[in-house]
Amino acid sequence: MSASERPPSPPEKLRGIAGSPGLAIGKAVVLGASRAACPRRSIGATDVEVEIRRFQEAVGRAQNELREVAQKLTDRSAEHSILEAYVLMAGDDVLADAVRRQIRHERRCAEWAVAEASDAIAKRLAAVDDPYLRERSHDVLFIGDRLLRAFGAGKPGAATLHVEGPSIVIAHDLSPADTAAMINEPVVGFVTEVGTRTSHTAIMARALEIPAVVGCTDAIARIQTGDLVVVDGLRGHVLVRPAALELDEARARGERHTALSRELSESRDRAPLTQDGVRVTLRANVELPAEAILARDHGAEGIGLYRTEFLYIDRTEPPTEEQQFEIFRAVVETMRPMPVTLRTFDIGGDKFISSLKLPPEMNPMLGLRAVRLALSQPDVFLDHLRAMVRASAFGEVRIMVPMIASLSELRQVRVLLDQAIAQVRERGQKCADHIPLGIMVEVPAAAVLVDLFAQEASFMSLGTNDLIQYALAVDRTSRSLAYLASPFDPAIVRLIRSVVRAGESWERPVSICGAMASDPLAAILLLGLGVRDFSMEAAAIPEIKEAFRRVSLAEAEVVAADAMRFGTAEEVEHAVAEAFAPRLYDLLTGER
Ligand code: PEP
Ligand code: MG
Repeated sequence: MSASERPPSPPEKLRGIAGSPGLAIGKAVVLGASRAACPRRSIGATDVEVEIRRFQEAVGRAQNELREVAQKLTDRSAEHSILEAYVLMAGDDVLADAVRRQIRHERRCAEWAVAEASDAIAKRLAAVDDPYLRERSHDVLFIGDRLLRAFGAGKPGAATLHVEGPSIVIAHDLSPADTAAMINEPVVGFVTEVGTRTSHTAIMARALEIPAVVGCTDAIARIQTGDLVVVDGLRGHVLVRPAALELDEARARGERHTALSRELSESRDRAPLTQDGVRVTLRANVELPAEAILARDHGAEGIGLYRTEFLYIDRTEPPTEEQQFEIFRAVVETMRPMPVTLRTFDIGGDKFISSLKLPPEMNPMLGLRAVRLALSQPDVFLDHLRAMVRASAFGEVRIMVPMIASLSELRQVRVLLDQAIAQVRERGQKCADHIPLGIMVEVPAAAVLVDLFAQEASFMSLGTNDLIQYALAVDRTSRSLAYLASPFDPAIVRLIRSVVRAGESWERPVSICGAMASDPLAAILLLGLGVRDFSMEAAAIPEIKEAFRRVSLAEAEVVAADAMRFGTAEEVEHAVAEAFAPRLYDLLTGER
């Protein structure tokens, strides 16, 4: 029976985690599928030169496609540099020699040769000790896939990254480089097999406002390129080849979600007040410089967290001070007169590929990450700090340090920051008279010693994504443990309360920038616990503003006081939901 005679596969519903809200309907493009489906033809001696020429032409096409995507991005963006690196890698001699050997000696057609050669190089890289080289194996496979697609260009049915019509990308995981390559394509949704709500694929999808389901095990095996797919980023479901009725229902829910989002953003200029008139501040978390504009559009009162580590990804060398300065300045100028909190790079842990070489570690989440890495490479860190210091001449800049676990780390950063300020001034360059230096409270040790930190840090921001991970000993990327990583856990509630209290006693601002802030019920609990300054992905701001407008501080405080007495996450969540869920139904379901 040929493929065209096969009966159509029945509809399926796959379950994952709601990574980014909204509903998207489109044709699936399965990344990585081109490798499995590539032709495997043995060739005769007379075909060798023809196949080598076909390979060279495919390299040219793949490079042109990558250049085209790069041209659509601004020159200074991290994505632009990544794509330029890919253009070079596609023409790399090591890969070309290996492909030519496969064609000449193994007598394989060009596609088969590319699949074999790129697999073999990636496997060799994956086996080496150096984590930087290990990470490059992912890039070699990406380039191999791009070449395989380039052979099929123009042939019907071939998967290309230049997707036509609204497409849903299905992948095992998406690196920021993968996302960058799609940024200008009509990609309307993502599904990944790994990840959780606080993993970076989900954070990126929310930043780009693309509905996404993450942690959807088996997606690649169950979905084929060309299948019609519904990504339900509200419920965390993926409907594959939906029946007409399911499709109608999804369309209707998608429209209700769009209507709700439109309605909420139209009221973006309303003051962020609770029902009883208490003022809260809502700022944005950003990963890419371009998101600053999005933050303004959604009514953010500044940037509460700029994850600067995204500047370091997928490059062979760290960005120069000048490159960083230009980017920080652009963000600061976009937000002026509102403040921008630049977090020093948080590389390591689950924060992927970087231009800084990290030693192999059994447990990278507990390893050389963030401030620890920064202090181990003071020259790289000083470039970073000087770029931030110089940006402070163009608007209000605050510097925030991630993963602080001891006072001595903060003191060492203080010394380096003073040095960076002195160097900038010596050069005759401008900077602000005072640059607040704050910390993220995301390691339990910092929460325990918070009274001491409150005396030395200018401000503190609760990083609940990591605080939950470390306090509850639950890997934040683990799909199977996601049920344990609850922001309602009493241990987390108590830690937050003690940080807020210390902030009050020492008159130090305490804010939150973990994903907990963008969950309406959790945000109300935080309000009741004393938090007034919230930072979240820009798209969530209108919704959280609306949630606060529907509750009073007095009510939130009563529920928070109860929460301090409960012993389980379920009890806390139930109490908050019982008090507030009925009046937040639309915000919680994402539908009007
Ligand atoms: C956090 O840990 O809560 C946080 C905001 O930082 P990141 O998610 O970048 O680790
Ligand atoms: Mg963190």
